[in-house]
Amino acid sequence: MSAIDLHARASKDYAAKLAETTTLLLQAAAQYAADANDGTPQITQASSLGAEDVVISHIINSHQLDIGIFVLETGRLHKETLALLEQFKASSRAPVTVYTPVNEAVVQFVAREGKDAMYKSIELRKTCCGIRKMEPLARALDGKKAWISGLRREQSDARADVPLVDTSEPRAKLNPLANWTWGDVWHYIKENQVAYNPLHDAFYPSIGCEPCTRAISLGEDFRSGRWWWEDEAAKECGLHVKADTSPLSNASSLSERTAA
Ligand code: SF4
Repeated sequence: MSAIDLHARASKDYAAKLAETTTLLLQAAAQYAADANDGTPQITQASSLGAEDVVISHIINSHQLDIGIFVLETGRLHKETLALLEQFKASSRAPVTVYTPVNEAVVQFVAREGKDAMYKSIELRKTCCGIRKMEPLARALDGKKAWISGLRREQSDARADVPLVDTSEPRAKLNPLANWTWGDVWHYIKENQVAYNPLHDAFYPSIGCEPCTRAISLGEDFRSGRWWWEDEAAKECGLHVKADTSPLSNASSLSERTAA
């Protein structure tokens, strides 16, 4: 049974939510239009190529919005994710930029701590996320006035208060699917025949790096397949942690503190 068969159930107010999301993205594209000097949009979508992100990218492309999209290729992604990335790059109207970690930093870290150091301690896991995700994220967001994420309130207790637009940091963060249910996400994917990661069909609702993601069982929490060996409170990679609470906020290698 596919993820579409399992999950595609539109909520009663799905049409209103879709209209709200589309309007938000249209307004954002106008508000953060391309810089007159270099022609680069001042807003970008952070995509993990997960179900929420492919929905947002599909809306951006369908409405031909002037919004770029970026993907963090950590070097530890599943082969399924890498295949979807190639397919997405070839089909997206919006420009897709892939950011990779600084090779020397990865080589030194792996030589010092081992390839799977993330299992040894939370500190080492967060160092790995810092090198492979946070530093490339800082480069991806450099010069941008706003960014877009696929966060939804339903995803976890930590995300229960996610606003549609977060202006608590200097760089605005838009969460256009904040109000969507998992059923809404899959209804959109079904209705619009959006290409998605086949790992979703294998009970991976939340997909990150291969060593840090596993399938979940019936009844388990949505994000229980991420960093499953750690306490719930530690389960963010830093991308969506506010500047003053980020476990990486003292890491000297990071030039940005924008990951909300
Ligand atoms: S999710 Fe895992 S493999 Fe990916 S950057 Fe973080 S610790 Fe490293």
